Amino acid sequence: MGEILDILINPDKRLRLKAKKVEENDILKPEMQKLCTDMFQTMMVKDGIGLAAPQVGKSIRFITINTKNKKLFMFNPEIVKKSILKEIDEEGCLSVPMYFGEVKRHKSITCRFIDENGKKQVLKASGLLARVIQHETDHLDGVLFIDKAKNLKRLDEAEVVEED
Ligand code: ZN
Repeated sequence: MGEILDILINPDKRLRLKAKKVEENDILKPEMQKLCTDMFQTMMVKDGIGLAAPQVGKSIRFITINTKNKKLFMFNPEIVKKSILKEIDEEGCLSVPMYFGEVKRHKSITCRFIDENGKKQVLKASGLLARVIQHETDHLDGVLFIDKAKNLKRLDEAEVVEED
């Protein structure tokens, strides 16, 4: 069982830092393996499908993802290919609670990263997984989805709309 970490909330300035690359030798160290477990657990408890290290106050290039089909730990993720085709869908973020908005993202991507075992991986993703990877890697560069979103709404406003 991991530890539940505190999630930084916008406008915390630490969310705007450019995160540092992780040294490959550090990935197998106990404190980094603990961070994998703790961040994954935190994401599960908070009902997220992705979490980036800067969101828990660690300015390093590490993200974890839990979509229906994929459980991923990605160190130094790098998007090396992007489809020309983009699509718009709704996003939210654990660091921007209550808000959601429409964000245009590449429909499919190829991502290079190092996994939790220190192995180099190449992943082709499309749809939701591609979207989550783009959202989380943005966090590593200090970018939040609200910087890109259109029709940004607060959840309570949306609920009022739905009741009509
Ligand atoms: Zn986010």
